[in-house]
Amino acid sequence: MAKDASKYTGFIFNDSDVYKWLEAVAYARVVEDSAELRTMSDEVIDLVAAAQMEDGYLNTYFQLTGIENRWRNLHTMHEMYCAGHLIEAAVAFAENHQDERLLRVAIRFADHILSIFGPDGRLGFCGHEEIELAFARLSALTGDERYADRARWMIERRGQRPSIFAQERTDRDVLALSPWDNGQTHAVESYEGDYWQDHAPIREHNQVVGHAVRSMYLYTGALALFSDDEDLEVAMLRCWQNLTQRRMYITGGIGPSPKNEGFTTDFDLPNLTAYAETCAAVGLVYWGQQFLERTGNAEFADVTERALFNGAISGLSLSGDHYFYDNPLESTGSHSRKPWFDCACCPPNIARVLASLTDYLLSESETGVYIHIPSALRADTTFGEIEVVGNYPWEGKFEIRYKGTTRRTFTIGFRIPDWATETNAEIEGAEELAEFEDGYAVFDREWHPGDTVKVDFEMEPRWVECDPRVRENLGRSALCNGPLVYCAEEKDLGFAPQLVTALTEAPPVVAWNPALLGGVNTISVDSIVEVERFPDGLYAEAGSTETREQTVSMIPYFAWNNRGPNGMQVWLRRA
Ligand SMILES: [Zn+2]
Repeated sequence: MAKDASKYTGFIFNDSDVYKWLEAVAYARVVEDSAELRTMSDEVIDLVAAAQMEDGYLNTYFQLTGIENRWRNLHTMHEMYCAGHLIEAAVAFAENHQDERLLRVAIRFADHILSIFGPDGRLGFCGHEEIELAFARLSALTGDERYADRARWMIERRGQRPSIFAQERTDRDVLALSPWDNGQTHAVESYEGDYWQDHAPIREHNQVVGHAVRSMYLYTGALALFSDDEDLEVAMLRCWQNLTQRRMYITGGIGPSPKNEGFTTDFDLPNLTAYAETCAAVGLVYWGQQFLERTGNAEFADVTERALFNGAISGLSLSGDHYFYDNPLESTGSHSRKPWFDCACCPPNIARVLASLTDYLLSESETGVYIHIPSALRADTTFGEIEVVGNYPWEGKFEIRYKGTTRRTFTIGFRIPDWATETNAEIEGAEELAEFEDGYAVFDREWHPGDTVKVDFEMEPRWVECDPRVRENLGRSALCNGPLVYCAEEKDLGFAPQLVTALTEAPPVVAWNPALLGGVNTISVDSIVEVERFPDGLYAEAGSTETREQTVSMIPYFAWNNRGPNGMQVWLRRA
């Protein structure tokens, strides 16, 4: 390929978005193998393969702007990040379609990376984590442990001193390669490394820091790669608790600050200016899922469900073609989804999660089938066909049916969500009671074809309060129903939701509204509304504010902003 800088457009990591799109297509084609998608993905795979260099290197930015600069600025230039997404897409095609064309490309690139970086070569890893979890997947697929070993080495070396990133930042020429640095050098002594999770060795991490997406990818990879390492698990649990108990929005959004696209301090969760990048919520889904697979504990699925049903899918419009990059919990009307972004990380990320959604709903162990999120589904498992019938998350009642053709002894379990205060479960026509393990209700028995478990979580709307150390939410409550967080939107109210004070003692009323927003439960809430009518001037004596009582209708947070930009609020003042 000719070197021609004028041919490269957009951000330096744009290759990664093509790979993420390919990965999403690999999953989507499992659901429906359309000829159109097959043709498009074939064409892209051919293009990717044709662009690869003799030595296995593949990054169109450096190939078109100056190959002599490759691998010089690891902390900014995203080369291994792009490689990681190529590998993930390749694994997805190989696993789901026995199509190894992209895998051959990915392995050549992976081997190129192994030939340069390693304990016997150059010390190096990427400023944007991703290669680690990708190498884990590549080893799991191929059985070749070299990739997982190298990823473990990269994770172990990150955060050690002297820092390779700090060193890079002393070099004017290296910094000049980055579109974001101004070439101004930095002293090694002033380097902290939080942004890249390069602040301390991973076993010493005790809180989530820096760029949120990067930290989620690092921690997902670390849990996958260090499967028997208790020290590392303890560190990851510390970070998990710090995140979920002090730094996570009620929507599962994470990373409040646009400055570093990431974390700040404990209990700093502004609503109006929340960054809460769609990719970060997706990253939290990945990390939670990895923890769930490792421990089998429902508390992790509680968080993945929270992020999936709220802060992740809010990133996508109901029409499927507009996207949020940031997902605030309050709006005064200026925020709206866009058809695309120059930095297009979020759209293909939400695509690959939604296209592989079944992985988050149900999984198998050696002894049985576990339903993490009981949305309607049918799954062919090694124990036979399992069907979940119901209308979750709109209703808390559902049935799990064994549709296998023979009698079979195995376990069927389902998660009892953290929000469920009362759960009833019975097998139709049988007396057995469920056992409880790690937040799951479990039936271990001989199943006959057609056996059905009836479950009722007794879903009721509930007001939630927040730790007062989150100053933004003082005196406020958020309405939830099942896993869904609700919000008040100006379109329904006819006035700014900031004027509302919710009467939280009055019971909220749920109604199914099939015509609204593709079909949602709305919830009616009694409230006091301040009237925007005021005596002369900006200030007046106490008692001048007029109020009226009004019932307001609230909608699920994920569905906001589908009727144009307008005011929105999750945390309402409470009376
Ligand atoms: Zn993103």
